[in-house]
Amino acid sequence: MKKQFAGFQTRCVHSGEQLDKEGGIHIPLYNHSTFGFSTTSELLDVVEGRKQGNLYTRYGLNPTIRAVENKLASLEDAESAYVFSSGMAAETAVFMTYCAPGDKIICIGDVYGGTYELLSVNLKKFHIETTFLLGDELHMLDQVSDDKTRIVFLETPSNPNIEIFDIEEIAVFCKKRDILFVVDNTFASPVNQQPLQLGADLVVHSTTKYLGGHSDLTGGAVIGQSSMIEPLGIWRKNLGQIMAPEVAFLLARSLRTLAVRVKSQNQSAMKIAEFLQKHKKIEKVNYPGLSDFKGYNTAKKQMTGFGGMLSFEYKGTAKATSDMVDRLRLFSIAASLGGVESLVTQPITTTHHGMLPEERKRRGIVDNLVRLSIGLEDAEDLISDLDNASNIPSY
Ligand code: PLP
Repeated sequence: MKKQFAGFQTRCVHSGEQLDKEGGIHIPLYNHSTFGFSTTSELLDVVEGRKQGNLYTRYGLNPTIRAVENKLASLEDAESAYVFSSGMAAETAVFMTYCAPGDKIICIGDVYGGTYELLSVNLKKFHIETTFLLGDELHMLDQVSDDKTRIVFLETPSNPNIEIFDIEEIAVFCKKRDILFVVDNTFASPVNQQPLQLGADLVVHSTTKYLGGHSDLTGGAVIGQSSMIEPLGIWRKNLGQIMAPEVAFLLARSLRTLAVRVKSQNQSAMKIAEFLQKHKKIEKVNYPGLSDFKGYNTAKKQMTGFGGMLSFEYKGTAKATSDMVDRLRLFSIAASLGGVESLVTQPITTTHHGMLPEERKRRGIVDNLVRLSIGLEDAEDLISDLDNASNIPSY
């Protein structure tokens, strides 16, 4: 990051950008798979690392990819970022890079269903075992870690119960034990929370969500110190996990408006959470901005905004809940989040559908839980949609 680009919004617009050769004001889309050289010695300078240059897109040596990586690093106030074909690809690269057979991972709290499956099924095949601690089992962190523990992984806010974990506190524990601390910052986005500044070693993102912001791209990123990011390169290259240049270009376009989008989503989510909290058909609202929410004090300490994600428990059965979801008109029923349009999902039907019912129960992912991703519509319109859908007493 250039020092003069100190403000977050300024960095969203300017970091990673340069005038292109034709005077275009942003880095253009270089969708080429390969880059040419005038001489063999120029090619060898790049291949042998004497010069930074463009070579082959799958290696990440592409100007459009490099530009969006520089912007992402700047937004998390970090040295480096690598982009990936998806959030899952980013996570896989982290686990493959930093764990070997026999190593252990500790996963704290609720995580995205795909992450849970990667840790509990795929990595197990490579003899990498994960211990899953529920949010209220955090006191057991010391007890479950040993000299084989390589990574502590968590999401905060978490998916779908919006649990909040104290990043600083867990970072201190990990530093003492020489364990890598990886935070999935997808729900908060760097507008609201900067885990690296709180002591985390690596941040991962599904850029499919807030960073992309328009539900029209799939991507991931890992961000941190260069010495921690560079080792991911060999996995990304050989597993073929690079983000497509077309996607990198679209992502850079979206990042320019990240701060204004997320700040507006924060404000609407707060209004909606306050409305739902008073609604007679709603049992419980999970939103870190509500002063009586369990994670409020920690969220206030480590977040500069409370985010656009919330969940609530509807008074009724699984069927009554999905009927209410079906009555919503402005919210689309969709599994993703972080876009300009509001989305709704009943986690048992999407993100946590693949999780065994006993495990869901253990995690408090109840049948009547509904997750909302608040978009950029007027908050008042979203509130009346929720009110209309909730009030029909059909059961
Ligand atoms: N992390 C979180 C918090 C998510 O919600 C998701 C997907 O929903 C992922 C990671 C995986 O991201 P992707 O779908 O881009 O692979």
